[in-house]
Amino acid sequence: MRILLSTLALLATPAWAEPPQVVADTPVTASLVGQVMGDGAPVQVLLPQGASAHHHQMRPSDARGLQDAGLLVWTGPELTPWLDRAAGSLADGVAQLRLLEVPGTHLRSYGEEQGHDHDHGGIDPHAWLDPANARLWLTAIAEVLAAEDPGNAETYARNAAQAGQRIADLDASLKAQLAPHTGASLVVFHDAYGYFTDHYGLRPAIAVSLGDASAPSAARLSAIRDRIGTAGAACAFPEYASDPKLVQTAIEGSGIRMGDALSPEGGTASPGPGLYFDLLSGMAQAIDGCLSR
Ligand SMILES: [Zn+2]
Repeated sequence: MRILLSTLALLATPAWAEPPQVVADTPVTASLVGQVMGDGAPVQVLLPQGASAHHHQMRPSDARGLQDAGLLVWTGPELTPWLDRAAGSLADGVAQLRLLEVPGTHLRSYGEEQGHDHDHGGIDPHAWLDPANARLWLTAIAEVLAAEDPGNAETYARNAAQAGQRIADLDASLKAQLAPHTGASLVVFHDAYGYFTDHYGLRPAIAVSLGDASAPSAARLSAIRDRIGTAGAACAFPEYASDPKLVQTAIEGSGIRMGDALSPEGGTASPGPGLYFDLLSGMAQAIDGCLSR
């Protein structure tokens, strides 16, 4: 009898299982996870809304909370070095998914155009700005959620497929919106836009700061001013949570127009499942808005 009961309990587990407690590194990742989990499943985000993903310090309470989670979904140490050690010492039973390591992810390297900086190389982690990557990651998120919570596997797979279709639809409309600007050159604050400019046919943006959004040196600012002079850029964009004066200084006297602030890490969009869509369409809107003036 005891054997029968425990067998029943084992069989019943998936249907009664609670969705896992999911922790995400950034609001962007949380948005993708939220799309897959659906309504009513809160996702804890380690990076406060609007903070720089590159320079955060994890609070001790967050580090402790991570050990009680069911699943950590994060981009990778190239984006959030402050999460690397905690992710490397997770308690047994806390699963993790590193999005940059999902097979098939399109990865680009820093420095292909900004190449004079010897200390500036490696993988550019802002890979969500290629919508094809985001679609791929939805499927990977659904699979890892299903492994933790098999009773809801079908729901996760269905949600991921629907969200993937919504991203494909948005991507098609953004391609049409940005098509008139093919080959345009932009000035931006930090080196975060390579995936976006590649995907939408813009020239690689000239970044005032490096990929980790640190303040540029005087020598770098001077080199940037020279490049801007020859690149024929029409628009420059400050960035949320960074000092717009750095971009202003770089374009001073060049006649380049200043566009609306960009938010490549989702700092200005409302948190939640819709954030990814707001981020992409907001960026396209700001770029199109300035280049069309
Ligand atoms: Zn960044």
